[in-house]
Amino acid sequence: MRFSRRSYLVALALGLSLAWGTIHTPSLVVLPEARASLAVLDVFWTEHFLCLYGVAIDRHVLVTGTGPGITSTRSRGGKFWISTVTCPKEAIGSAHNHPNGERCYFYFPGTVVATADEVTFRGSGQRLSIIVCRDHLVWDVQ
Ligand SMILES: [Zn+2]
Repeated sequence: MRFSRRSYLVALALGLSLAWGTIHTPSLVVLPEARASLAVLDVFWTEHFLCLYGVAIDRHVLVTGTGPGITSTRSRGGKFWISTVTCPKEAIGSAHNHPNGERCYFYFPGTVVATADEVTFRGSGQRLSIIVCRDHLVWDVQ
């Protein structure tokens, strides 16, 4: 069987476009120990945070470990308190849980409207943000 020059070019173009799509589609790999730490976040009924460590190349991320963030709490006019969690510079991102697995998205469904999590993530300068949502992870990379 002999391929025509045209079918060869079509196959080549298809292969290149598939490879191109694979390269440019963001990917996330979380090593087992880090995944176990993230799973622990799901047991809390309030939001908790972890800092993420690993490697980020372009929009491909490998999470190799986690660690606690640095919490600072300040009073807001004596009426309520705000806690902010920051991660060390070595961290590539942060993860937090959504109790009950609700609102697990970075954009409101069916829209391009960013949620507060997405806005915070964009302003953070971090590469990766993960929402621990029951048995799965919702993530964004920049
Ligand atoms: Zn959130």
